[in-house]
Amino acid sequence: MQAWVIGNWKQNPATSHDVKALLDDLLTAVSTKAQLDGCQLMVAPSLIHLTAVSERIKGSSILSAAQDISAHSASIGAYTGDCSAQQIADAGATWTILGHSERRQYHQESHDCLLQKMTHALTQNLGVIFCIGETQAQYDAKQTLAVIDAQLSVITDLLTQQPELMAGLSERLIVAYEPVWAIGTGKVPTVAEVSATHQHIKQTLASFNTALENMTVLYGGSVNADNADSFAADSMIDGALVGGASLKAESFLAIAQAF
Ligand code: PEP
Repeated sequence: MQAWVIGNWKQNPATSHDVKALLDDLLTAVSTKAQLDGCQLMVAPSLIHLTAVSERIKGSSILSAAQDISAHSASIGAYTGDCSAQQIADAGATWTILGHSERRQYHQESHDCLLQKMTHALTQNLGVIFCIGETQAQYDAKQTLAVIDAQLSVITDLLTQQPELMAGLSERLIVAYEPVWAIGTGKVPTVAEVSATHQHIKQTLASFNTALENMTVLYGGSVNADNADSFAADSMIDGALVGGASLKAESFLAIAQAF
């Protein structure tokens, strides 16, 4: 199975100049590394840089993604600050992240909001990297699987409402398991914990519909060049969604090489 290593740049780097420098480093590193076979790289820059990044990576093996899309179905209209799935695709991205915990936390993204966003993305042929994961309090209370199940119901509700979106979905949907308490903290769950949670995610989706039995499930949360090997060695972990360590070409590439 192909591995995926996806860099979520969040609201970084600070300037267009720094974005170009990071991308140049990344393209140079990719072109000189032979060991990236079987690992698909993707970067998700902030919206302001999405067009430039998508242009710059054309012809390379790197894909680009948005970090979010509008919840409104209209391709254009009076939605100040929003950007539709159609506009994201026009900017050159082929994927979007949805449901990142920072969107859930700072923008109160709910089940219904994410259901709408996922519908718009998939209908407009954007692939979706759907983020799920429990908070520290939920982890401590051993509620991880219950939280995951509730969050996965966005996918199962979507497919119940629109079964036509099932066709080819395992190529256009990636689940990223990101414990909120591991994001940007340097704390990570054990590989065994991640593996068991991924197995649960895969089984839950496969039992909903056998067409989902090969779902790609990535781990995200303080992945770096030092710990990537241990995650990559587990057969339930199909790659990584990387925040901080994706802002340096060297560490991002080291993670990709581990997978
Ligand atoms: C993220 O925000 O998706 C993430 C995984 O961040 P970090 O790698 O910095 O923990």
